[in-house]
Amino acid sequence: MRTLIDESQLDDGVSKLAKEIDSNYGGRPITVVAVMTGSLVLFADLIRRLSMPQRVGVIHASSYRGGTQAGKLEIDSKMLIDVQNRDVLLVDDIYDTGATLTKLSAAIAEMGASSVSTAVLLKKLRPKQIGPKPDFVAFEIPDEFVVGYGLDYLDMYRNLPFIGVLEPDEIEATARQ
Ligand code: 5GP
Ligand code: MG
Ligand code: MG
Repeated sequence: MRTLIDESQLDDGVSKLAKEIDSNYGGRPITVVAVMTGSLVLFADLIRRLSMPQRVGVIHASSYRGGTQAGKLEIDSKMLIDVQNRDVLLVDDIYDTGATLTKLSAAIAEMGASSVSTAVLLKKLRPKQIGPKPDFVAFEIPDEFVVGYGLDYLDMYRNLPFIGVLEPDEIEATARQ
Protein backbone atom coordinates (compact mmCIF):
# COMPACT_ATOMS: atom_id res chain seq x y z
CA MET A 1 0.00 0.00 0.00
CA ARG A 2 1.31 3.42 -0.96
CA THR A 3 0.14 6.31 1.26
CA LEU A 4 -1.27 9.20 -0.74
CA ILE A 5 -2.72 11.31 2.11
CA ASP A 6 -1.64 10.58 5.68
CA GLU A 7 -3.62 10.93 8.89
CA SER A 8 -2.49 14.41 9.81
CA GLN A 9 -3.02 15.72 6.28
CA LEU A 10 -6.57 14.29 6.40
CA ASP A 11 -7.14 15.98 9.73
CA ASP A 12 -6.06 19.37 8.35
CA GLY A 13 -8.01 18.87 5.13
CA VAL A 14 -11.26 18.03 6.91
CA SER A 15 -10.86 21.02 9.24
CA LYS A 16 -10.37 23.34 6.26
CA LEU A 17 -13.38 21.79 4.54
CA ALA A 18 -15.54 22.39 7.63
CA LYS A 19 -14.38 26.03 7.86
CA GLU A 20 -15.29 26.63 4.22
CA ILE A 21 -18.73 25.09 4.66
CA ASP A 22 -19.30 27.04 7.89
CA SER A 23 -18.47 30.36 6.29
CA ASN A 24 -20.63 29.55 3.27
CA TYR A 25 -23.77 28.87 5.32
CA GLY A 26 -23.14 31.59 7.92
CA GLY A 27 -24.82 29.74 10.77
CA ARG A 28 -27.99 28.76 8.87
CA PRO A 29 -29.30 25.29 9.77
CA ILE A 30 -28.57 22.53 7.24
CA THR A 31 -29.57 18.95 6.58
CA VAL A 32 -26.34 17.00 6.10
CA VAL A 33 -26.77 13.78 4.13
CA ALA A 34 -24.10 11.07 4.08
CA VAL A 35 -23.75 9.11 0.86
CA MET A 36 -23.27 5.61 2.21
CA THR A 37 -21.06 3.79 2.62
CA GLY A 38 -17.95 5.59 1.40
CA SER A 39 -18.54 8.86 3.27
CA LEU A 40 -18.97 7.15 6.65
CA VAL A 41 -15.61 8.14 8.16
CA LEU A 42 -15.44 11.62 6.61
CA PHE A 43 -19.03 12.28 7.68
CA ALA A 44 -18.38 11.51 11.34
CA ASP A 45 -15.32 13.77 11.38
CA LEU A 46 -16.94 16.57 9.35
CA ILE A 47 -20.26 17.03 11.17
CA ARG A 48 -18.47 17.39 14.51
CA ARG A 49 -16.47 20.29 13.08
CA LEU A 50 -19.42 22.16 11.57
CA SER A 51 -20.90 24.76 13.87
CA MET A 52 -24.40 25.40 12.46
CA PRO A 53 -27.49 23.51 13.69
CA GLN A 54 -27.76 20.25 11.72
CA ARG A 55 -30.22 17.56 10.83
CA VAL A 56 -28.38 14.39 9.88
CA GLY A 57 -29.47 11.77 7.38
CA VAL A 58 -28.17 9.05 5.10
CA ILE A 59 -28.79 7.97 1.53
CA HIS A 60 -27.41 4.89 -0.17
CA ALA A 61 -25.73 5.01 -3.57
CA SER A 62 -23.48 2.47 -5.08
CA SER A 63 -21.92 2.07 -8.48
CA TYR A 64 -18.85 -0.04 -7.78
CA ARG A 65 -20.44 -3.43 -7.43
CA GLY A 66 -17.45 -5.61 -6.66
CA GLY A 67 -14.53 -3.98 -8.40
CA THR A 68 -12.66 -0.89 -9.43
CA GLN A 69 -14.82 -0.18 -12.48
CA ALA A 70 -18.10 1.72 -12.13
CA GLY A 71 -21.30 -0.13 -12.91
CA LYS A 72 -24.90 1.04 -12.94
CA LEU A 73 -25.75 3.49 -10.16
CA GLU A 74 -28.30 2.33 -7.58
CA ILE A 75 -29.92 4.88 -5.24
CA ASP A 76 -31.79 3.83 -2.10
CA SER A 77 -33.46 6.67 -0.18
CA LYS A 78 -35.65 4.54 2.12
CA MET A 79 -33.63 5.59 5.18
CA LEU A 80 -33.46 9.28 4.24
CA ILE A 81 -35.05 11.87 6.58
CA ASP A 82 -37.44 14.51 5.21
CA VAL A 83 -35.56 17.02 3.05
CA GLN A 84 -38.53 19.16 1.97
CA ASN A 85 -37.75 22.89 2.22
CA ARG A 86 -34.35 22.08 3.72
CA ASP A 87 -30.91 23.29 2.69
CA VAL A 88 -29.20 19.99 1.99
CA LEU A 89 -25.46 19.30 1.99
CA LEU A 90 -24.63 15.96 0.36
CA VAL A 91 -21.37 14.48 1.64
CA ASP A 92 -19.54 11.86 -0.41
CA ASP A 93 -16.11 10.28 -0.29
CA ILE A 94 -14.92 11.01 -3.83
CA TYR A 95 -15.93 12.75 -7.03
CA ASP A 96 -14.73 10.61 -9.91
CA THR A 97 -16.87 10.85 -13.05
CA GLY A 98 -19.41 13.00 -11.21
CA ALA A 99 -22.30 10.67 -12.10
CA THR A 100 -23.16 9.78 -8.49
CA LEU A 101 -23.40 13.31 -7.10
CA THR A 102 -25.13 14.65 -10.20
CA LYS A 103 -27.87 12.02 -9.94
CA LEU A 104 -28.16 12.26 -6.16
CA SER A 105 -28.42 16.07 -6.28
CA ALA A 106 -31.21 15.80 -8.83
CA ALA A 107 -33.02 13.18 -6.71
CA ILE A 108 -32.79 15.33 -3.55
CA ALA A 109 -33.96 18.43 -5.44
CA GLU A 110 -36.92 16.44 -6.73
CA MET A 111 -37.83 15.57 -3.14
CA GLY A 112 -38.40 19.28 -2.52
CA ALA A 113 -35.14 20.47 -0.95
CA SER A 114 -34.72 24.28 -1.05
CA SER A 115 -31.07 23.91 -2.03
CA VAL A 116 -28.56 21.11 -2.63
CA SER A 117 -24.80 21.51 -2.23
CA THR A 118 -22.12 18.86 -2.35
CA ALA A 119 -18.96 18.25 -0.34
CA VAL A 120 -16.34 15.58 -1.02
CA LEU A 121 -13.09 14.53 0.56
CA LEU A 122 -11.45 13.79 -2.78
CA LYS A 123 -11.84 14.96 -6.35
CA LYS A 124 -10.03 13.04 -9.06
CA LEU A 125 -8.16 15.01 -11.68
CA ARG A 126 -9.35 13.28 -14.81
CA PRO A 127 -10.97 14.23 -18.11
CA LYS A 128 -14.64 13.52 -18.85
CA GLN A 129 -16.24 14.57 -15.60
CA ILE A 130 -19.93 15.19 -16.00
CA GLY A 131 -22.34 17.54 -14.25
CA PRO A 132 -21.59 20.36 -11.86
CA LYS A 133 -18.34 20.25 -9.87
CA PRO A 134 -18.66 19.61 -6.13
CA ASP A 135 -19.11 22.81 -4.11
CA PHE A 136 -16.57 21.86 -1.43
CA VAL A 137 -13.46 19.72 -2.00
CA ALA A 138 -10.77 18.83 0.56
CA PHE A 139 -8.17 17.25 -1.78
CA GLU A 140 -7.63 16.91 -5.53
CA ILE A 141 -5.89 13.63 -6.38
CA PRO A 142 -4.46 11.92 -9.47
CA ASP A 143 -6.62 9.44 -11.38
CA GLU A 144 -5.73 6.34 -9.33
CA PHE A 145 -7.93 3.89 -7.43
CA VAL A 146 -7.66 4.78 -3.74
CA VAL A 147 -8.84 3.14 -0.51
CA GLY A 148 -9.04 4.00 3.18
CA TYR A 149 -10.82 6.60 5.36
CA GLY A 150 -14.17 5.16 4.21
CA LEU A 151 -13.22 4.13 0.67
CA ASP A 152 -13.27 0.42 -0.09
CA TYR A 153 -12.10 -2.24 -2.45
CA LEU A 154 -14.51 -5.19 -2.27
CA ASP A 155 -15.83 -3.79 1.02
CA MET A 156 -12.40 -3.88 2.64
CA TYR A 157 -9.95 -1.14 3.71
CA ARG A 158 -12.64 1.38 4.81
CA ASN A 159 -11.16 1.35 8.32
CA LEU A 160 -7.68 2.56 7.30
CA PRO A 161 -6.97 5.98 8.86
CA PHE A 162 -5.17 7.20 5.70
CA ILE A 163 -5.81 7.31 1.94
CA GLY A 164 -3.68 4.81 0.05
CA VAL A 165 -3.20 3.31 -3.39
CA LEU A 166 -3.35 -0.49 -3.64
CA GLU A 167 -0.46 -2.22 -5.36
CA PRO A 168 -1.41 -4.72 -8.11
CA ASP A 169 -0.53 -7.72 -5.88
CA GLU A 170 -2.80 -6.35 -3.12
CA ILE A 171 -5.66 -6.06 -5.60
CA GLU A 172 -5.23 -9.73 -6.51
CA ALA A 173 -4.86 -10.81 -2.88
CA THR A 174 -8.02 -8.96 -1.82
CA ALA A 175 -10.04 -10.60 -4.56
CA ARG A 176 -8.89 -14.03 -3.33
CA GLN A 177 -9.72 -13.35 0.36
P1 5GP B 1 -18.56 8.88 -9.67
O1 5GP B 1 -20.04 8.61 -9.76
O2 5GP B 1 -18.22 10.31 -9.36
O3 5GP B 1 -17.83 8.37 -10.88
O4 5GP B 1 -17.98 7.97 -8.54
C1 5GP B 1 -18.29 8.19 -7.27
C2 5GP B 1 -18.29 6.90 -6.46
O5 5GP B 1 -17.45 5.87 -7.02
C3 5GP B 1 -17.72 7.24 -5.13
O6 5GP B 1 -18.74 7.58 -4.22
C4 5GP B 1 -16.97 5.98 -4.74
O7 5GP B 1 -17.83 5.14 -4.00
C5 5GP B 1 -16.61 5.31 -6.04
N1 5GP B 1 -15.20 5.58 -6.41
C6 5GP B 1 -14.73 6.39 -7.40
N2 5GP B 1 -13.39 6.41 -7.44
C7 5GP B 1 -12.97 5.59 -6.45
C8 5GP B 1 -11.67 5.20 -5.97
O8 5GP B 1 -10.59 5.61 -6.43
N3 5GP B 1 -11.65 4.33 -4.92
C9 5GP B 1 -12.79 3.85 -4.34
N4 5GP B 1 -12.64 3.00 -3.33
N5 5GP B 1 -14.03 4.20 -4.76
C10 5GP B 1 -14.12 5.07 -5.80
MG1 MG C 1 -19.69 6.17 -3.02
MG1 MG D 1 -17.12 1.46 -3.08
